[in-house]
Parts: sequence; structure tokens; C-alpha cells
Amino acid sequence: MNSTSSFASLGLADSLLQAIHAAGYDQPTPIQQQAIPQIIAGSDVLAAAQTGTGKTAGFTLPILHRLLAQPLAKRSPGRPRVVILAPTRELAAQVHESVLLYSQGTRLRSLVMYGGVNINPQIRALQQPVDILVATPGRLLDHCQQKTLHLDQVEILVLDEADRMLDMGFIHDIRRVLRLLPKQRQNLLFSATFSNEIRELAHQLLNQPVEISVAPRNTTADRIDQQVIHVDAHQKTALISHMIRESGWHQVLVFCRTKHGANRLAERLTKDGLQAAALHGNKSQSARTRALDGFKTGKVVVLVATDIAARGIDIDQLPYVINFELPQVAEDYVHRIGRTGRAGSEGLAISLVAPAEQRMLHSIEKLIKRTIDERALPDDFEPPARPVGAVDAPEREAPRKANTRRQHRPKGAPTGRRSGAGRGGNASSDRSNSSASTNERRTSTSDRSAPARRSRSRRSGSAARSTPDNVPYFD
Ligand code: AMP
Repeated sequence: MNSTSSFASLGLADSLLQAIHAAGYDQPTPIQQQAIPQIIAGSDVLAAAQTGTGKTAGFTLPILHRLLAQPLAKRSPGRPRVVILAPTRELAAQVHESVLLYSQGTRLRSLVMYGGVNINPQIRALQQPVDILVATPGRLLDHCQQKTLHLDQVEILVLDEADRMLDMGFIHDIRRVLRLLPKQRQNLLFSATFSNEIRELAHQLLNQPVEISVAPRNTTADRIDQQVIHVDAHQKTALISHMIRESGWHQVLVFCRTKHGANRLAERLTKDGLQAAALHGNKSQSARTRALDGFKTGKVVVLVATDIAARGIDIDQLPYVINFELPQVAEDYVHRIGRTGRAGSEGLAISLVAPAEQRMLHSIEKLIKRTIDERALPDDFEPPARPVGAVDAPEREAPRKANTRRQHRPKGAPTGRRSGAGRGGNASSDRSNSSASTNERRTSTSDRSAPARRSRSRRSGSAARSTPDNVPYFD
């Protein structure tokens, strides 16, 4: 099969196949295989798919195909034929980048609009004919109120990351948008999770939808090496700084639960000589753009982000994700680690787990249906207090050989100590492996096979509580 034949078999137009080829995609991902023919056929679609599965191309390509099948004369200024709603400005911008990428060989015109920036350039842009509008709900409604935008010619509506939109309180805005749309239209709803609220929204919005579901990346993506480090909360900052500096890691995305926590950690890492930046909702748009651009280009080595701010960060081959704290919702763990190991590359996801976070760790492992391997604390760090009855076997095992896949210990198996080549001994191999690669940010398999690990010694405890960063920071 050549690089475009499998996409071609989905029935996409030639100009799109060329764009796909130029993007370097060999084969459609599972969500693309399922969604593209249905959307081309005009069906409403309810799709369960996370970021990282190729979902954006999964709806963008067939939408472009449908638009190309109709004369361009149908479009008019301020009256888009397709509206794609996204929860955050970062995601809107990324979706629009995909639209631009796949439509480059066509004469279709697209715009992106979100709040927090001057509305006047957007108004001017709407004075031209537009085919596809990608927008956050608040700014879209602003334009409708000002009558600079009219939704009466919308043929296709997409709700991307609908679960996030609901989590962030957009349901009323979504309903207001729906009232402005023509009754006759195609609706596509993409969501990482299918809560009752999503089902209810889907029921109101979709007309005999085709349901598509792809396995969450965590169950399919063996390429993400997941590890936990048990450590007391007060040692986490020093530990993360130590690990990143010792291992020479680059492009590390660190998740914190709170904006203040993210700020504090980024400041401390900066003091320790690492190029770190915080990404969260209290930052101005320009500060966020700067942080993201710096992270993409490698100037920023560590990006410390809250869940919402990190949502939709789309960087291919992001090699390292560290959970400074576990998320409050187990599913967010899947979203977080989905930042790494994307599009066929491999990644390492490390979670720092304090005794108070044990319960959340159990919930995550239940969700992902596996026990996450343990990585040993470096020598300079004190292990947290042992649980009553826990036994730590004294002997150590030889390090695992590079390029061998780890055998995950089944739940309930004995927990003897299983430690690697000496603490911190993996540091130089991390560096040498990554720099030897053609893409120096890529992580090689041996990189992740080296870290010292030990078996689990679980404590009981209640999940830590702190304020999540769930305040919308746009519109
Ligand atoms: P998404 O799930 O839409 O956020 O896409 C995740 C990443 O996968 C993006 O960087 C896309 O460029 C990439 N991608 C999408 N489709 C494919 C494909 N068929 N083959 C390889 N990479 C892809």
C-alpha cells in the first residue's frame, strides 16, 4: 500500500490526498478510517476520540471534501458554511492550523476567532467570503450579536472536545449557537468521554448519528512508558528539578493541579537553571503564545501547565510528560499522558505520587486496566513512610536490557524490590540516546528501558485536594 492509497480508498479528493501525502501520513488512523466515509456520506456523527488519535483530520478532511464538491460561489461574506466550535483558544488555533494544512491546495477560505484579542481584525476578515470558521463559543456569539457574523448558511457544525466545553460551562453558549443555525445541517460531535450530559447534548443535537469509538490511547498505546515515583509531597519540587537536570531531558511537559502551583514550580525550576515557563489561565494570551512557541522551538525546556491550559497542545513526538500531582479526575490522566507517544513515536510519562494520592492512583489504574510500574527514587531522596506490613526486599536486579519490553506485574503479584542499574545511572544513557537520534527530542526505547524501578508498596490514604484550574480563561 503506498502512502496515499488507503486514504484514497476512503474517497477523498485528490487535492486532499496531496496534502495528506505532504503531511507525511502513511495510513488513516482508526478514527479517520471510521469517520471519514460517514462524514463524506453526510451522516451525523457522535465520536469518542481523544486528542492524539488523529481526530482533527478525521473531521477536517471529509468536511473539506464535501465543500470541494460544491461550487465556491455558494459562499458569502460573514456567512460560513462550516462552524467548528472548540473549548479553548489554543485548541481553536490548532484546529485551524490543521484546516489550513489540509486545504492548502484548494481555494477554500477559513478563519479562526477567539476572545481575549482585538475583535476588529476579525470583523474585517468576516467581510470576505468564508467557508470554514473555527471559533470558541463566546467570541462567535459576540460576532453574531454585532451582526458581523451570520450562521444562517451553516451546513456543517462540529463540536470538538464537547466534554471539555460542558466541563467549562459552555452549555448555554452552545444552546444559543444552536438556535442561530439552520435546522437542516450535518452535526459532528467529538468528545473524549461520554458522560450522561454528553449523551443528552448528543440527543438534542444529532440526527440519527453514527456512533464511532476508538480505544483510548492508554489501552492501545504501549509506546507510552508509564511510571510512578512514590515520594513525599514536600520533596516533589526538588525531585523534578533533579530528574530533569540529571537526565538532560528536553521538552518536558509538567502537569500541576493549580495555577499557583504551576507558577511556583516554574519559578523554582528557573532558579535551578532550567528554562521553564508556566502555562495557565491567569497568563495573558501573549505570555501563553510565547511559552508555547518557546516550548515548540526548544527554548523552553520545561513547560509547567494546568490541565485546561495544556489541553490540545499539539506537538508531535513530545517525549516527556511528568505529573507533578495526579489529576483529580482519573480520565484526565489519560488526556495528560496522551500528550506524549503521539503519531507513532514513543514517550515517557512519569507520575510523582505522594501518600495522599494513593487512592487516585488506584482509580487511574482501574481506568487504564493496568498497574503502572514504579521507578526508584534517586539516592538523595528519602522514600516516603512505608505502609504497615510492607516489605522491601533488599536485593536488586540487574538492569533491564535495552529494547526489551517491560513485563507488567499483574495486580496482586508479589512486590519484591526490582531496581535498576543504580540510582541516577540512567541519566547519561538518556542523554546519549536522545542526542544520537535523528530527532534529538525523540526518545529512544532504551532511554525508557533503563530507569531503575522497584515494585509497588502501596499506602492507603485519601486523595489530595486542591483547587483545580477549571476557570475558563477566554471569551
Ligand atoms: P489530533 O488527534 O487531531 O490532535 O492529531 C494528533 C496528531 O496526529 C497531529 O499532530 C496530526 O498531525 C497527527 N496525525 C493525524 N493523522 C495522522 C495520520 N494518519 N498519520 C500520522 N499522523 C497523523
